[in-house]
Amino acid sequence: MGNVRFEALKMAFAHHVVDVDVPEGKVKDYFAQDVFTREKMKEYISQDVLDRLFDDVDNGRTIHRDIAGVVAIGIRKWAIERGATHFTHWFQPLTGGTAEKHDAFFTLKDGALLEEFSGDSLYQQEPDASSFPSGGIRNTFEARGYSAWDPSSPVFLIGDTLCIPTVFVAYTGEALDYKTPLIRSTASLCHAAREVCAYFDKQVKHVHANLGWEQEYFLVDEALYNARPDLMLTGRTLMGHNSAKSQQLEDHYFGAIPARVLAFMRELEYEALKAGVPVRTRHNEVAPNQFEMAPIFEDVNLANDHNLLVMSIMERVAERHHFRVLLHEKPYAGVNGSGKHCNWSLQTNTGINLLAPGKNPYQNLQFITFLVNVLMAVQRHNGLLKASIVSATNEHRLGANEAPPAIISVFLGKQITAVLDKLEHAKAEEAIIINAKKEMKLGVANIPEILLDNTDRNRTSPFAFTGNRFEFRAVGSSANCGAAMLALNAAVAEQLMLFKQEVDARIEKGEAKERVLFDVIKKYIVACKAIRFDGNGYSDEWKAEAEKRGLDCETSVPLVIDRYLASESIKMFGATGVLSEAELHSRSEVKWETYTKKLQIESRVMGDLVVNHVLPAAKRYQTMLLQNVLAVKQVFSADETASLNEMDYSIIRQIEHHSGAILEGVEAMTEARHKANRQIDERSKAIAYHDTVLPLMADIREHVDALELIVDDEMWTLPKYRELLFIH
Ligand code: ADP
Ligand code: MG
Repeated sequence: MGNVRFEALKMAFAHHVVDVDVPEGKVKDYFAQDVFTREKMKEYISQDVLDRLFDDVDNGRTIHRDIAGVVAIGIRKWAIERGATHFTHWFQPLTGGTAEKHDAFFTLKDGALLEEFSGDSLYQQEPDASSFPSGGIRNTFEARGYSAWDPSSPVFLIGDTLCIPTVFVAYTGEALDYKTPLIRSTASLCHAAREVCAYFDKQVKHVHANLGWEQEYFLVDEALYNARPDLMLTGRTLMGHNSAKSQQLEDHYFGAIPARVLAFMRELEYEALKAGVPVRTRHNEVAPNQFEMAPIFEDVNLANDHNLLVMSIMERVAERHHFRVLLHEKPYAGVNGSGKHCNWSLQTNTGINLLAPGKNPYQNLQFITFLVNVLMAVQRHNGLLKASIVSATNEHRLGANEAPPAIISVFLGKQITAVLDKLEHAKAEEAIIINAKKEMKLGVANIPEILLDNTDRNRTSPFAFTGNRFEFRAVGSSANCGAAMLALNAAVAEQLMLFKQEVDARIEKGEAKERVLFDVIKKYIVACKAIRFDGNGYSDEWKAEAEKRGLDCETSVPLVIDRYLASESIKMFGATGVLSEAELHSRSEVKWETYTKKLQIESRVMGDLVVNHVLPAAKRYQTMLLQNVLAVKQVFSADETASLNEMDYSIIRQIEHHSGAILEGVEAMTEARHKANRQIDERSKAIAYHDTVLPLMADIREHVDALELIVDDEMWTLPKYRELLFIH
């Protein structure tokens, strides 16, 4: 057999644009075609049942089983009419991704086929939960897990399967997923935000959090992918020398999308739109073969479901186009990584975006109130917010190639900073003028309109204000955004509750509301200075400065995970009812365990690749050089031989040097792994992997990459960076 790499290259070159079957018509002809929307429900379910259902959903109440029974009949009818044969509860275990357990709509009764999908099947299922991580919660036989319908996210069809978004919890009530605490966090946040809104606008009955995600990803040709066991098994390249040309010219960013990729995107968008995901933006990203997709923002719970759905649609569609999607945060060292910026805002039922400057002084004071409370929340829980985004995969991205650094800070931009500075130094009398008509004038805060198209961007900020929302940029491309969103929601909810307590206490003492609001906000503006940073997040000066300001500067992932268990986190999650202490313990356990497993797999794959691919190729080349040296000796005189063989000698020695170092490295790495595996608890194991295995992998890689540069190209068996990154 020939060299695997060349076989793969041949196959990759033979891959051409795949035809896509996207209807010519308007998007609205097929948007949400596969979703059982409220509109469609009206055709299948009686109005009185729907009224009760929607009322319960919109007010966050539990749905009665009787209602579920009637709704189930409507769902089944709609699904079967559309060719569905199976249904599944669709949930989000802590492994990441989504899980499904398919059941047929039909059962046999007395030898006859019977359609079956009861209210109970809609309401609750018991997937075999033992294979999902629980971090010790579900240790006993009794503590099984079950999935339960989330009626706030509509059911949808994927092929012939009806998917029912569900939460996944233990029988004892603890959450085993991301959705449960996300829903709890939005409930808590909405309540706290509405209470604060009441100072400004009594019309506000409901506040909800919006999420607009931007999904970055890489595409790689499937033949090349299959020839890279590290990509297949770990999602990233564990070795590979930088391509001579990579992203220096920035010619990929917003450049023309390659034809094969465009066909993929068209199909992906079509599939996403049919599933009700309002995708809108697509473009090339900074790195070669890197792209981005973003929808219009939606309610955070639905938006997160949609993100997970899109991630799975992507993988399916990519295969049809002979691509593989890499959702890993750092598939290639030295090249831009992939994030999933989470654009987050708060909106009232009256249509006001609480994070956008308003039209009148009252609205602007409200805006500043929410803005400053978010700053306070992010500051007080900056370590926890970092914990919510770290992972074995995002670890490689943070702080590298324009990715957000591993210290959480907030970028505000010049204008908002100026507004806050002015408020900080203003006296209440000059800032707030209440005229005879009881109208308030916020003298200092004539917040400029221009803010709305804020172009004052800072790519090195992990958490940036972008005119009418915050953008949490540190979130990784492969993550469930729920983890970050629930931490942010809960932190802000707690902060708003504290704010209200403080304000109410002073109003009760007889102080004027506007005066108190102004005073407390002013105090907060001073108090949250530590988190505000508009400079270069990569600079060493910032690291030193952040340390001085008391921000969390830890970079070791296993230690960052500790922040879930910090007393202020436990208190905050408890006060907001988002996660109990037991749940926080279980989540941290799962995070450590997952971290360890990922590194364990990577380290093993690296060992195998080195022994089976790299060293044999190096040896083969070395042997060729040695034969050449001998041949030269036979042909030329001793005097001439020395100089003629000089270059070969040098390369032979380099190969020897690197191969020796690799072998030693692999031995040390294996030993470090064994030692780490012997640690008794998950936390120590993860720390050992981080501190001992990870650095050894980096050492080995350096020598492998050096060999790649020396060894004859024709003998190298792993597709190279230039091939993985530029062939499409
Ligand atoms: P950029 O890459 O410049 O940050 P994009 O247009 O790629 O901008 O993405 C912007 C994202 O922000 C989209 O997902 C969009 O829906 C979302 N977004 C816009 N306004 C809001 C808002 N008020 N709240 C939440 N998300 C928003
Ligand atoms: Mg963005």
